[in-house]
This record gives sequence, C-alpha cells and structure tokens, in this order.
Amino acid sequence: MGLVHVYTGDGKGKTTASLGLILRSLGWGRKVCMIQFIKGYSEIGEAFFAKDNPNFTFIQVSDSKIRDIKEDQVKQMKADAEKSFEIAKEEIYSGKYDLIVLDEINNAINYDLLDINKVIDLIKNRPENIELVMTGRHAKDEIIELADYVTEMRLVKHPYQKGIFAREGIDY
Ligand code: ATP
Ligand code: MG
Repeated sequence: MGLVHVYTGDGKGKTTASLGLILRSLGWGRKVCMIQFIKGYSEIGEAFFAKDNPNFTFIQVSDSKIRDIKEDQVKQMKADAEKSFEIAKEEIYSGKYDLIVLDEINNAINYDLLDINKVIDLIKNRPENIELVMTGRHAKDEIIELADYVTEMRLVKHPYQKGIFAREGIDY
C-alpha cells in the first residue's frame, strides 16, 4: 500500500529529500514522476538527470519569465498551479508510476493558488499503490492530518544568511 509523505519547514532539504526517495525508488526499477508547482527554473540538476532516465519523468509547467504587471503574474501563477494539479491528477491515475512527488504544492496551497479541497480529494481518492510526496513550506494542517510521514526541516543555519547564494549542483 502506498503512503503519503510531507516535507515542510523553513530549512533546506525538502526537495532534496524527495529526490533521495526518487533515487532509492529508481534503484529498485520503479517508475517515478516529479511535478513542480510554482517554480520554473529549467536548468536544475534533477531535470538534467530525468532527461537521461526513462523511468524518471520530470514535469514543469511554469517558466521563470518575468512578467510586467503584478496582477498578470498572480493570474499566471494560479493558472500554472491549476494546470500542474490537472497534470498531477492525470499522472496519479495513469497507473504508470510507483512514486509521485508534488514539489512545492504546499506553497501553492498556502498562497491560494490551489484549492485545498481539490488536493484533499486527490489524496483521499488516490490509487492504493501509489506513494505520494508533497513538499513546500507551510503545509496546511488538513494535509498534515492526511499524511503518514511528516517531516519538518527546521532552519538552523543557511549560507544565504552570510550572502552565499544558490550553488549549482547543491541548491539546484
Ligand atoms: P532544496 O531544493 O535545496 O532541498 P528546499 O526544497 O528545502 O531546498 P525551497 O523552499 O524549495 O527549499 O527553496 C528553494 C531554494 O532555496 C533552494 O535553492 C534551497 O537551497 C534554498 N533554500 C532552502 N532553504 C533556505 C533558507 N532557509 N534560506 C535561504 N535559501 C534557502
Ligand atoms: Mg524545494
């Protein structure tokens, strides 16, 4: 039976932890899919890796283009989050995957880009064998309630605090 994981909190490691699960799963010959909600940088190690690995599907809906008008940006983010959700639903029901990671979905819910009730329905009605991972800060109590594994990454130190920005191969 598949279970539900949540990685939340303000420390580094939420996406990295889910990539660790992906690695482990791939090692067993399983099929995995990661769908990224919100963020859209395409030049990231996990996307490059997925390109060479037929068992790892990486899906990114939004792009990182900057838009002029703030209102348009919010509209676009909402549309992207909703599209990501529709894709996630399709992939979850497709029967193609053993493990599905919904990266940053907690943030999408928290920013009201996604209706939490739709997400709750999806979790409750997921196929029995799928392992589902949800990452992102500020996971809602209702999601935590439904999950089986909940881990909070707590920020103790981050090099960003001393002006070291995201580094290739480590942070992306
Ligand atoms: P990672 O992808 O490294 O596992 P994450 O998924 O836990 O990080 P996100 O909230 O998705 O964290 O943040 C994305 C980016 O911000 C990553 O490059 C990550 O290294 C960096 N980051 C994570 N936590 C912090 C923090 N507390 N301060 C500054 N930058 C952070
Ligand atoms: Mg992340």
